[in-house]
Amino acid sequence: MGKRLLALLMVMVCLTPSVAFAAVAVDASFVILDGRSAVHYSFQVPGEEFVLLEYTGPKESGKMVIHAENDHRFVGDIPFYYSNMGGKVRLTVRNLENRELGKGEATLLAAPGYQAPKGQSNAKVKNFVLEETPEGFSYSFEAEGTDYMILHFRNKQQTGEKPVFPDENGVYSGKVELPLTYARTLSTVQIRNGKGTVKAEETVRKGFAPPPAPQKKEGRLSGLVVCIDPGHQENGQPFSEPVGPGLTGKKTGTTGMAQGKVTLRKESIVVLEIAFRLRDVLEAQGATVIMTRERQDIFHTNLERCQIAEDAGAFIMLRLHCDTRENSKKQGLSLYMPLNSDYAKAVAGKEEYRQMGQIMLDCTKVSAGYALDTSTGTVHQSDQFIGNNWAKMICFLIELGYMSNPEEDYLLSHPVHQQRLAEGMAQGVYEIAVFRGLIEE
Ligand SMILES: [Zn+2]
Repeated sequence: MGKRLLALLMVMVCLTPSVAFAAVAVDASFVILDGRSAVHYSFQVPGEEFVLLEYTGPKESGKMVIHAENDHRFVGDIPFYYSNMGGKVRLTVRNLENRELGKGEATLLAAPGYQAPKGQSNAKVKNFVLEETPEGFSYSFEAEGTDYMILHFRNKQQTGEKPVFPDENGVYSGKVELPLTYARTLSTVQIRNGKGTVKAEETVRKGFAPPPAPQKKEGRLSGLVVCIDPGHQENGQPFSEPVGPGLTGKKTGTTGMAQGKVTLRKESIVVLEIAFRLRDVLEAQGATVIMTRERQDIFHTNLERCQIAEDAGAFIMLRLHCDTRENSKKQGLSLYMPLNSDYAKAVAGKEEYRQMGQIMLDCTKVSAGYALDTSTGTVHQSDQFIGNNWAKMICFLIELGYMSNPEEDYLLSHPVHQQRLAEGMAQGVYEIAVFRGLIEE
């Protein structure tokens, strides 16, 4: 190797990381937000559009993926719900692969008139009940003869604790909102006495409320029916069904699903969230949308899902899934189309079917910010999916990213990225409808 080349390589090796991961100065300051103590943050991370922001306050901590509105500048406020006593707040910024990029600090002031809770705070806890709500959870319990107890919660995204007080009958009850906690995430909730000793512990999931259906509109997809099949459900059930028309054998539909490497979220809730976004984008463009499920606690077999699409008169069925692999570096999207089933052959020839798959995959990649080459995923022609083989309409199973990849795991739960995926798939639906001559360009 020539000396000059070696020197050039060394410069590149030295420069690349320092440009991408320059230490980030996090500018944090105390503000009041909606009458609450809050911390305002502002910082710039060259080259990053999404970062992970972690904070630790006096009685609460949290982490969230935040999105730069423009120029890689991240600006926002963190409200504090449980830190009335005031104190230090520490912020840490990481990239989505968990590499630390910068830090900041601010001091919260004590709320005016704040007093620490006083009195008796040690008793047996009875009838401790937690229930999920769309915002977080509700609690109720009894602790005879006490003036206050401490409610403590923790989950993968946030922790907090606060004193709680009984009503005139000695019953404690209330609601806890978990704005940073993803839907269906499990929280551990403890009732502690004033000295911090745990007196009771239960777990609860944050609820999920399906977004209301949008108002019907006219648009470029008017007259078309689209079926969205959000893969899986909260709890899988093995169920054996014939592989497909014209194919031999029976197969148990895959019940195992992907789970977020860092979010610990189940694939079933992530694809359901994306499915609702896709529904809204399609309906805003005039399409009629049918979903095979709108809830987590439901069980449909693959054949039943195909039947729902057929009964609705859908011209296309999009089956939304997320991928997982041992190798956490693996990333990108893939699309699976049926190949040899009689129904697939009746829909289109192999090459025409493949072209439509390529349209769908490319539209989704472009919208979600992926390069258009095979390194970010390809169209697979395969007999392996029962739910593809039994579809009497155009049908694709789309793997929207790897939940085993920390970066994609975070992105798959972020509203901005979810929306981009949805808009890409809707563009694919439009282009395929034009390609098939169902609508005019
Ligand atoms: Zn899946």
